[in-house]
Amino acid sequence: MEEILLLLLGLGFIGAFYWTARGPKAAVAESAIEPPAEAQLSEAVLPLGERRVIPESVHQIPRHALDDNAMRVVYRILDAGYEGYLVGGCVRDLLAGKNPKDFDVATSATPEQTEPLFNRARLIGRRFKIVHVRFGREVIEVATFRAGHDTADSGDQSRQAASGMLLRDNVYGNIEDDALRRDFSINALYYNVSDHSILDFANGYPDLLAKRIRIIGDPNERYREDPVRMLRAARFAAKLGFEIEENTAAPIHNLAPLIGKVAPARMFDEVLKLLQTGHGVATLRQLIRFDMFQYLLPGTDRMLDSELYPVETLVDCALRNTDRRLNQGKNVNPAFLFAAMLWYPLVERMAKLEKRSELPPLQRLHEAANQVLGEQIKATAIPRRFSTMIREIWELQHRLPRTDRAEQIMESPRFRAGYDLLILREEAGEDQNGLGAWWTEYQRGNKPPAPRHEPRDEKRKRPRRRRRSSSTPRQDNQS
Ligand code: ATP
Ligand code: MG
Repeated sequence: MEEILLLLLGLGFIGAFYWTARGPKAAVAESAIEPPAEAQLSEAVLPLGERRVIPESVHQIPRHALDDNAMRVVYRILDAGYEGYLVGGCVRDLLAGKNPKDFDVATSATPEQTEPLFNRARLIGRRFKIVHVRFGREVIEVATFRAGHDTADSGDQSRQAASGMLLRDNVYGNIEDDALRRDFSINALYYNVSDHSILDFANGYPDLLAKRIRIIGDPNERYREDPVRMLRAARFAAKLGFEIEENTAAPIHNLAPLIGKVAPARMFDEVLKLLQTGHGVATLRQLIRFDMFQYLLPGTDRMLDSELYPVETLVDCALRNTDRRLNQGKNVNPAFLFAAMLWYPLVERMAKLEKRSELPPLQRLHEAANQVLGEQIKATAIPRRFSTMIREIWELQHRLPRTDRAEQIMESPRFRAGYDLLILREEAGEDQNGLGAWWTEYQRGNKPPAPRHEPRDEKRKRPRRRRRSSSTPRQDNQS
């Protein structure tokens, strides 16, 4: 009996000791809402699909940075009884301290349920159905939570080509499914407008803090499903100054040829996002690093190392100029960028044509333009309004040396773009005998003496000149 009493006493003692020992630890756990402990939680790596909540006190996105119209859209969706979040690039950019280009919304409502909630909503797309809600010039894109193709009853809502490429993507799911079918972890963050927290299911928050671009899931599979993701990795690395994580970068070299299978119309849109959104120079470096530039502008890529023409310098100048204009809030024209990037492929074709045929210079230019644009549209479509402009800008390179017809040349609607390209060519190292400076002066209302460019008529009387052997590029307008 005494022994039992002693045993009970002993157990009680151990229990009391255990209780007091646990006390302070429980207190630490409770204080996890204090910022330092939370920050640690935010950085922990969790299993894919596990929910992490980052409270406003930790992520500190200022509320005034949230787009009013996007918030209106989410509130309307919530009022109708569905789930709704701000998602994707806008959350990523706000966390990275950048200005979001646009605000996207993800919801549990199907496109058919979303559309009637708004007066100015339109259901668009087939490959990927979404709803556009318009507020003046602003469009908020509302997408329904999607599921991965192996996790849901796909039926004919989802189609995949033999190469693994997704042809249709309308399998709906819940928020966890939706997060995991997004491309990169930093693009899979959801802003909850009810409590201003951020939901993360793919370790996007720690990746964002570490400035890391990590694909969600198996990189090979994800790039095969949609090769544009490889271009997107390069774009985000350039835009945010982030590193592409090792496993995410590794398969790009081998799989990049799949980009050649992407529809040219989609590729045109991608080129604009890559090169005309303010980080063109940095993006070009990433594209060249991963050997992907060849799928955007094959003709230009082939000539990047040319000893005859300063191709890479001109492309760099054009992109620097584009970045500068965008950062100053000015608009940019895709036709100008294409005209600049394809300028040396054009010059090279003209040189080849000159050897083979007796076409007069202007016709030679037209024929070369057909060939260059013909090759380019296999990679990226070029809408006709832009290809017409590209031709006009090129034709102006041929006309600008005719300073005796300056007044007439200036009437061309493409004059300014043509002049800008001339300046870029000079910046890239082409010697134009001061032609750019002449036009600059002329536009200021001055009448400077003509630069040393002979009128074409006089030139025709002279015997054809031999091809110059110097490294200075040959000018179409000098022939
Ligand atoms: P930005 O708008 O700055 O170009 P973004 O990340 O918002 O970047 P969007 O094209 O607007 O890019 O796409 C919105 C979101 O949709 C992305 O953040 C990503 O979560 C998802 N997404 C877009 N394209 C793909 C894709 N090809 N594969 C998987 N998810 C994608
Ligand atoms: Mg976006």
